[in-house]
Formats: sequence, C-alpha cells, structure tokens
Amino acid sequence: MVVRARLARALVWLLVALPVLFFLAGLRPADFTSAAGILNMLGRLTGVLGLACMLLSAALSARVPGFDQPFGGLTRLWHTHHLLGAAALFMLMLHPLLLAFAAQSVGAGLGFATLFPPLSDIASWSGWGALLLMMIFLAPTFSFFGPPHYERWKRVHDIAPFAVILALVHTFLFTRTMPANLDYVVWTVFALLAVGAVLWRFVGSRRIGRLPYTVAGIERPANNVVELTLEPKKRPLRYQAGNFVYMTPFDRELAAGCGEEHPYTLSSSPRESNLRIAIKDLGDASRALQSIQPGSRVTVEGPYGRFFKTPDEVATPELWICGGIGVTPFLARMRHLRKLEQGGDIRFLYCVQDEARALYLDELQTLADAIPGFRLIPHYFYREGPISQSFMRENCGDIERREVYICGPQPLSRLAQSHLRALGVGRANIHTEEFELL
Ligand SMILES: Cc1cc2nc3c(=O)[nH]c(=O)nc-3n(C[C@H](O)[C@H](O)[C@H](O)COP(=O)(O)OP(=O)(O)OC[C@H]3O[C@@H](n4cnc5c(N)ncnc54)[C@H](O)[C@@H]3O)c2cc1C
Repeated sequence: MVVRARLARALVWLLVALPVLFFLAGLRPADFTSAAGILNMLGRLTGVLGLACMLLSAALSARVPGFDQPFGGLTRLWHTHHLLGAAALFMLMLHPLLLAFAAQSVGAGLGFATLFPPLSDIASWSGWGALLLMMIFLAPTFSFFGPPHYERWKRVHDIAPFAVILALVHTFLFTRTMPANLDYVVWTVFALLAVGAVLWRFVGSRRIGRLPYTVAGIERPANNVVELTLEPKKRPLRYQAGNFVYMTPFDRELAAGCGEEHPYTLSSSPRESNLRIAIKDLGDASRALQSIQPGSRVTVEGPYGRFFKTPDEVATPELWICGGIGVTPFLARMRHLRKLEQGGDIRFLYCVQDEARALYLDELQTLADAIPGFRLIPHYFYREGPISQSFMRENCGDIERREVYICGPQPLSRLAQSHLRALGVGRANIHTEEFELL
C-alpha cells in the first residue's frame, strides 16, 4: 500500500517535470551568456513549473470516487494537491519578479514596464489576474488570517477555476517556451485534465456521483451524537469498512447545513442493506443534524479513504487506537467482522475521558466478545492520564509486529504515534485517519 502510494505521488511529480524537461530542451547558449539571459530563463522556468503545478493541483481536486485509492486515501491525495498548490503559488510569484529583474538589467525602467504593462496587454494582465486570484483563494488555506472557517474557505476556494482560466489565457497568448510548438500540446493536455476535474467536481459529481438516500432510522448513542440509518432510493453505495462519504442533507427545517456536504465515516458493515453514519455535534451543520427527522432526503457521495489494509480479514495482528468520535471506522470494521464471522488477533485501545463518554461501549464489548481473538481495552483519562508507553506495552507485548490503526483527536493521534515509534513500531505499519481535511 505504502509503495503504491509512493508510486502514485512520484507519477504526479514526474508529470510536473515533463514540461520542465521540454523547456530545458528548448534552451539556447544565449540563455546563459548574460545575467539578463539567465534571469529571463529562470523567469520563464518558474512560469512553466508554476503552471504545471497549478494545473495538476486542479486535476487532483476532482474527488472522483476510487481515484484516491492509489494515493492511500483522499487525505493523502489532498496532501499532494496542497503541496502542488503551494509550489505553484511560490513559483508564480517569482515568475514576474525574475522577468522584471531580467528586463531591468537590459535597460533602466524596463523592469517597471514589465511589471506594469499597458492596459491593452491582455496577455500580461491575465497572468496578473491569475496570480491575484491564487493569492486570494490560497490565503485561508495557509492560515494567513488564522484558522479558516471551513464553509468560508470552501466558498473562497471556488474562485480557483477562474485563476486556472486566466493562467491558461496568459500562457496561450504569450511567447512560446518549448521547441516545436510543444507548448500547445503539453498545456492542452494539462488544461484538459484540470478542466475535466473541475467539470466533474461542479457538474458530474452532483448529477451522477451523489446517490439519493432517505433517513430511515435515528439512534442516540449519547446526547451529542446521532447515528442515522440511511435507506437507498436507487442504487446502493458499494464500499469497504473504514471508508467515508460526503453526506448532504436536504431538510429545509434544519437550523444549518441544508445542501452542505460534509465528510462522515460509515459506521455500518458493507454487508448491511442500509448505511449507518454516527455524527457528533462538532459545529453548526453537525449540531443541526442532531435534530434531523426520519424521512428526510440526503445524498451520499463516495466512497473515499483507505484506512484498513485488509478490511474483510485480519491478515496480521493489529492494534487499534481511537478516541472520541474516531471510534466510527473501528465500529464499522467490528460490525463487519462479526457479519463475516471472521476473527483475528486484534487489540483495541479505546481512549475516553470517563465511562459516561465511552460511545458505544456496550455494543463494542458485545462485538468484542463475539469476535474470536479480539480484546477491547478501555483507557480512561480521568484515571490513567494521557496514554503512556507502559500502558501500551502492558496491553500489547508484541506491539512492534502489529499493523497499527489510529483515529481520534490530533493530540491523541500524535502522542500515540510518538509512543509507537519509541516502542519500535515501523512508520509503514502506522496508519492514521484524519477527521480534518484542510
Ligand atoms: C475523513 C473524515 C471522516 C469523518 N468522519 C466523521 C464521523 O464519522 N463522525 C463525525 O461526527 N464526524 C466525522 N468527521 C468530521 C466532520 O466532517 C465534521 O465534524 C463536520 O464536517 C463539521 O461540520 P460543521 O459545519 O458541523 O462544523 P464546523 O464548525 O464547520 O467545523 C468543525 C470542524 O470540522 C472541520 N470541517 C467542517 N466541514 C468540513 C468538511 N466538509 N471537510 C472536512 N472538514 C470539515 C472544520 O475544519 C472544523 O475543524 C469526519 C471528517 C473527515 C475529514
């Protein structure tokens, strides 16, 4: 799985390198003979690199179900998308500066004229427009103005397609940088990938990707958590234990979040005819869902994620660590193993504040008793403090030979990972699921 993810990422960076290689192939000796030539060449190079990163970053944002699998899940795919976005912004900020320095070293005042051309120079101004829009929609991502509010961040991010269009106008209008008109071919292919992704995201996924469901049942495992049972109206979703979906409710009575999509892990076994989703009140939309009514219409898009290596069987001994609502992928896998009548050597460290806040404890214990080889080990913070290496070692003597899965709040996840590394668990054997996608 790790090797496949590395290969998928390597392929993306190789694609970024492709236009750069074509650009380098088109260089002439004159590009290296003066300071102005070198600065100009670097200016064009940063433009090529920045555009490649920008278009591939756009292409990776498509969220086509299944496409995240080779990357090891959507969170990891989006990590590459973010890196590409950051690299694009950096390169495209350098691009005009280097060109201006190059022009200035040819003649006084030319640098200023490069940065601020006449208004009729559509080619240059479309480039500036693209850069400005990029700065606007990436500023919240880099938390320039503090932690972003998710919905606001998403709305600002929706201007990204306009930046892509302006960048393409700039590129196609400007002088060529590659031999034999390769520019047209390369940028057309990259543009098709980016435009295809945007079209899927804003049109295709809404029309074909979202499956209609109805809320058929509502359970309340705690006063700030609801578990919805969703009945398919058409084709049921096919998924694996540990996957997540984007769910959009369409109940106008909801105090917030009607028509807003949010990611939730499926807590049901893929063998069940209905989907189950447990939702904790963590913000306005998830709070409103606590009062959703049976019969409400929702859509579900997915599945995404790749948490468990072997969701249907226990191929090697496993250790699970979770906290809070991070219990959902484990609940799904336990329900699934029970349905399949599968057993295996699994230790489950369930970290909670106290007994009252241990979600699903009774059901987890019943499932643990029914799955051969399974051991559920609750860890109560009020009694034992933060999870420690000695607690892990005491309850899991052979920890270093296990595949470890962690899902929970970031402080718990980070602490558990540092203990695991200290106890000799290999990085490749530690798998985490993040409930934060930004
Ligand atoms: C892969 C994944 C699986 C998840 N599974 C579950 C689950 O099984 N049960 C559960 O209760 N919660 C789950 N969550 C968290 C859930 O998505 C957020 O609690 C919910 O989106 C909060 O929305 P809100 O408007 O109520 O809160 P807000 O106040 O808008 O946000 C609260 C927090 O949730 C994050 N968030 C909000 N919207 C999104 C979004 N669309 N995508 C990513 N992060 C967002 C924000 O960054 C913020 O940190 C999961 C999140 C992810 C990424």
